Amino acid sequence: MDLNSFQRINREIQKKGIEIFQSEIERFEHEDGQIKNIIMKDESQHSLTAFFFRPPMEQQTSIPKELGCNINEMGLIQIDDFSKTNVPGVFATGDNTVTLRSLATTIGAGTNSTALIVKELVEENFAM
Ligand SMILES: Cc1cc2nc3c(=O)[nH]c(=O)nc-3n(C[C@H](O)[C@H](O)[C@H](O)COP(=O)(O)OP(=O)(O)OC[C@H]3O[C@@H](n4cnc5c(N)ncnc54)[C@H](O)[C@@H]3O)c2cc1C
Repeated sequence: MDLNSFQRINREIQKKGIEIFQSEIERFEHEDGQIKNIIMKDESQHSLTAFFFRPPMEQQTSIPKELGCNINEMGLIQIDDFSKTNVPGVFATGDNTVTLRSLATTIGAGTNSTALIVKELVEENFAM
């Protein structure tokens, strides 16, 4: 994210009365598994009842990388609208390509890419 976008988002957040603390997280405290406090490296602490974060993603296997598939900055296999990767003949669908993960998304994308794979196979083998 560029500096301008970062500053714009910060302003929008502050307009909503949300405070921004910029320090590294040291640890969390909980009570019976329920999050209670966040302790920062600068020793400040803040009480909280929920915590949202975006964990870094990585592929389960090195196969996509070994095949030469482009991996985007979020750790997902880069595909086009038809589930094609940058490597001819290699398609990807499902959790390895999207952040919004669900069975419906996976099945929908899988159905579409299957149709395209069949089309490519037919064209490859029965080209006139
Ligand atoms: C805890 C949890 C709860 C969820 N609840 C819901 C829900 O309620 N509703 C919903 O719609 N979605 C839910 N999801 C999301 C949903 O399960 C996934 O979006 C969906 O299963 C993705 O399908 P997929 O085929 O892309 O990946 P997966 O289902 O993860 O399948 C990938 C397969 O590849 C195999 N594999 C990995 N590496 C290798 C290898 N090197 N060689 C061979 N095989 C390999 C794995 O063993 C796995 O079987 C949930 C996910 C989680 C984790």
